[in-house]
Amino acid sequence: MSKQIPLAPGLFTWPSDEPALLGGRCGSCGYVAFPFREHCLACGLPEMAEVELPRRGRLWTFTTQQFRPPAPPYAGADTVESFVPYGVGYIELPQACKVESRLTVSDPAQLSIGQEMELAIVPFGVTSDGQPTVTFAFRPV
Ligand SMILES: [Zn+2]
Repeated sequence: MSKQIPLAPGLFTWPSDEPALLGGRCGSCGYVAFPFREHCLACGLPEMAEVELPRRGRLWTFTTQQFRPPAPPYAGADTVESFVPYGVGYIELPQACKVESRLTVSDPAQLSIGQEMELAIVPFGVTSDGQPTVTFAFRPV
């Protein structure tokens, strides 16, 4: 089996039995951002330090992606014909920030605002040289 590689570097710890998203916490004002960035969005200072974000949070809002997004930037292995709708939402991570994420379920009947969600690393596509890629998502707990 080929090694699964993250869709982009620096988004989450990988490989890991308990992967975590990698954000930044401002050393000056405490603001937390995802993904990591050098300068704080709140105070503008270059004081951000990389931190692992909580693996669990609450679903803040959600919707369903009903059609294949334009590619690029979308890089899924599916086609217009094989595309399967997926859930997208914001997860509010305690003492951190809100994270926009794919959800592991797309049926609105299985989702409700405020429910507990947990980080999951899921298959995504393949690189141009055939390596399988993974991305992050959140699943209901
Ligand atoms: Zn700051």
